[in-house]
Amino acid sequence: MHESTVKRIAENIYCFPIPLPDNPLKWLNCYVIRGYEGQRSLLMDTGFNQKPCLDALLQGMDELGLRPELTDIFLTHLHSDHTGNAAVLSEMGCRVLMGEIDKARMNKSRWAKRMELFEVEGMPHELIQQVVDSNPGMLYAPKLFDAVGVADGDVLSYGGYELECIHVPGHTPGQMCLYAKKEKILFSSDHILFDISPNITVWAGFEDPVGQYIESLGKIMELDVDICLPAHRTTGSKTMRERAQELIAHHQRRLAETERIIRENPGIRAYDMAGMMSWRIRARSWAEFPPAQKNFAFLETLAHIEYLLARGKIRRLTDEEGKASYAV
Ligand SMILES: [Zn+2]
Repeated sequence: MHESTVKRIAENIYCFPIPLPDNPLKWLNCYVIRGYEGQRSLLMDTGFNQKPCLDALLQGMDELGLRPELTDIFLTHLHSDHTGNAAVLSEMGCRVLMGEIDKARMNKSRWAKRMELFEVEGMPHELIQQVVDSNPGMLYAPKLFDAVGVADGDVLSYGGYELECIHVPGHTPGQMCLYAKKEKILFSSDHILFDISPNITVWAGFEDPVGQYIESLGKIMELDVDICLPAHRTTGSKTMRERAQELIAHHQRRLAETERIIRENPGIRAYDMAGMMSWRIRARSWAEFPPAQKNFAFLETLAHIEYLLARGKIRRLTDEEGKASYAV
């Protein structure tokens, strides 16, 4: 017999952790809104396509008495730690729901374009290969699955709650939160995390992710929220609004840092900048960052560069070989 990990949060709302082995995120908070007898329930996000994740998921579903044929799965965004088991659950008979924008990006490999970008922006060759080989998003991605698309403003009803789908582009192009207005409960997914800051990266066909993320934080701060439920880690004692303010300040500091490094090092390449920025990670030096973390830091640096470029604060220089560097 396993020990129960299911916590009750409010009437008909439950949460249990799905461990994310060897990942700095540590675990995913899987939320369930249990439907009334004979009615459909909603389960939010599924963990990586990895056995320990699926085991925890099935155990939690079992404890909550969720029957696949009466369970809808809501995928808050396309990342594999959220979508990893969608195909398995779909095959079991669950119905899968997902925001249209991220849904359209599922199952399309971004890697060919990414490798080109790594090359242009100065990532060393041996690291490119390590990043490709060790990327959990790729290793533990879901198999193909069908999903019903939802859009900004759609309302879902489960267990007595009316949940509005709120599109908050930034962490991914199609990131969605669910909001129960009457009860003032926000399922913030990876839009607002409390003891880590959500990773912001660059995307093909999704411009100025940092600018859009800051705008989406402003949008979510207007909501009346008593209980904010993030997809990873815990909330601590801060309110949603306090945390959103902090995240805006965090990106403003990072933008200032990016601009300063470029000003002090004219002609610097993006990859070299990533090693000069301040990161909150348990490693003594940039050299000790694991490849996946170097990749996240590098892509986050590029996203901040894109913000400054879009506002004319810095310039992009290209040499004869097509390699990029930056100056004010
Ligand atoms: Zn994510």
